[in-house]
Amino acid sequence: MNPHGITHEAAPTVLKPLCANRIAMFDSLDPNVSAFARSLCDACPLLTGCREERDDWLGASTTNRAQVTGTWAGRTYGDATSEEQKRDRRRRAAAKASATRAEKAATEPPRTHCIEGHPFDEDNTYINPTTGRRQCKTCRRKSSARHRARKSAA
Ligand code: SF4
Ligand SMILES: [Zn+2]
Repeated sequence: MNPHGITHEAAPTVLKPLCANRIAMFDSLDPNVSAFARSLCDACPLLTGCREERDDWLGASTTNRAQVTGTWAGRTYGDATSEEQKRDRRRRAAAKASATRAEKAATEPPRTHCIEGHPFDEDNTYINPTTGRRQCKTCRRKSSARHRARKSAA
């Protein structure tokens, strides 16, 4: 914290999603193509936030879960594996994510800004009703817009 109360993390940053302009690649269910898309997610500066948005979105309704196809935050959906396998994977992923979040929450002071530098103020903060976690509204909007754009361009 500097004397003006501005943290380093609060500095405005523009992080570019690695899926930008790669609609076909991220929609593809070709195993080779989707493997490459997942490797881009692994290197993406927005992965952490993107994964949280995705898990929330998938957790929000069965319709969302049924609709999702293609690669999103390091996972490929709608591929040939059985529904049961997919449910299993989702359960494991959700359990792991919530354990990781709980661990983080217990050890870290609350952040004042999201990973992209948007403030966690009253207007920009969404409290997930299920998990009680704070989320950046700006980032949530951007993430679902990206996903919708990929869907409609497909
Ligand atoms: S889907 Fe998410 S993690 Fe993957 S490249 Fe796009 S923004 Fe990054
Ligand atoms: Zn944000």
